[in-house]
Amino acid sequence: MGQGYHFICKQCHEKYSADVGCGIAQPMACEKAFSKIASGAYGAERKRLVEELSGIAVSGNLELYVCSSCNRWESTLDLTLYEPNEPDYVPEFTIGGETRWCGAPCVSDWELCQDYHVIKRYYHICTQCGRRMHKASEQETLNLTCPKCGTLNWIDSIIMWD
Ligand SMILES: [Zn+2]
Ligand SMILES: [Zn+2]
Repeated sequence: MGQGYHFICKQCHEKYSADVGCGIAQPMACEKAFSKIASGAYGAERKRLVEELSGIAVSGNLELYVCSSCNRWESTLDLTLYEPNEPDYVPEFTIGGETRWCGAPCVSDWELCQDYHVIKRYYHICTQCGRRMHKASEQETLNLTCPKCGTLNWIDSIIMWD
């Protein structure tokens, strides 16, 4: 279950929204992210980790990131790599009923906390100014800038999706 945060800009009336959480489309998003990591799009070290270690997983949760410098925001996958504590571990809680997608388990956050450990964090970089982005706080999630004119708006509504 995910949440969609919907906004209407008080300045230019643009409607925009940010999705956070996890739904039935997430295994596909995970698989895509994972094959990008495996192809080396996120650096040689991550590529090597995915090739050499078995059972590596990424979180299927969409997270909201805000640039600490220019306030640009983005809703995207975390991309931190996890390794199971037991080498031949098979995830129980899977998203969308699939246990494996191209060898990349799409594992629930709950299980990642319980049965996995972080092997490589991923830091999202702002495409606008090149600074590091941080995970949005609750306050920041409810208060996002308009992508069209940059005005900071308070949330209009929250919609649940799956
Ligand atoms: Zn606007
Ligand atoms: Zn920025």
